[in-house]
Amino acid sequence: MNKPRNPPDRAFRISRSPVRSSALGPGYSVANSNTRILGPHKQASAGTGSSLASTLPANLGLNSDRLRTQMVRRLREQGITDDRVLAAMQTVPRHDFVDQGLASRAYEDAALPIGYGQTISQPWVVAYMLAVMCEGRAPQRVLEIGAGCGYQAAVLAQFVPEVYAVERIRGLYDQARLNLSQGRSRGRVRLSFGDGMQGLEHRAPFDGIVVAAAGVKIPEVLLHQLAIGARLIAPEGATHQRLILFERTGPSSWHRVELEDVRFVPLRPGTQT
Ligand code: SAH
Repeated sequence: MNKPRNPPDRAFRISRSPVRSSALGPGYSVANSNTRILGPHKQASAGTGSSLASTLPANLGLNSDRLRTQMVRRLREQGITDDRVLAAMQTVPRHDFVDQGLASRAYEDAALPIGYGQTISQPWVVAYMLAVMCEGRAPQRVLEIGAGCGYQAAVLAQFVPEVYAVERIRGLYDQARLNLSQGRSRGRVRLSFGDGMQGLEHRAPFDGIVVAAAGVKIPEVLLHQLAIGARLIAPEGATHQRLILFERTGPSSWHRVELEDVRFVPLRPGTQT
């Protein structure tokens, strides 16, 4: 197998986005969450959405469009500019992907528990990863490793024709399948139960790969399932994690760039039933 190499840094248009100086949020961090690390005491602001959300749980279905508008506005303020991603996040009802008891918090800028010790990623993390992966491209076929409750796959499926998603925990796979069979996401994501560390060889090459769990090292096999010119984004590291962007530049060359500091749930081998 060819070894990915790291050529000297060349112009990647992605820059590390500015850290927001917004007011500190109320500290809604989940111990093992998929979030950006802003510094020892900083947490991405929950924004105005949280106060509004707390008044609305009973009517969330009716008011969620407004909450999503606020969420999207906040994402723009946080430096997300990709209109495809923003429109998709305006469309997908995030509250339908979390437990009913957490639905009122679905539009906060926070990761939330989805059971089995896993989390749905912070909206900013979802938006940022997809925007970076798709920058300057119109991917036709994308692979997501770590479907969790299916939210990120549903967002992707709003603007990518072929979305494949893999989940290794049976209970979450079942949950994602249910979530993705309803509403606007119906039938748009090809979900499979298995170990995503192997990728999906029979569907490769992909125009983009997004990994929603952190490995100590990004599995090399995934890099080989990228089409030439395509991008993979994934968190990497154990205690200190960073988002890493790989772009395949040729049959046996990849360009690697380190992006934001983050904290993700771990990428694990095998399956859990
Ligand atoms: N994409 C989700 C995030 C889910 S959290 C969202 O929309 O918010 C990360 C998920 O990765 C967990 O559900 C975890 O079970 C899964 N995961 C970890 N290792 C995996 C592997 N090897 N293959 C597939 N899924 C994996």
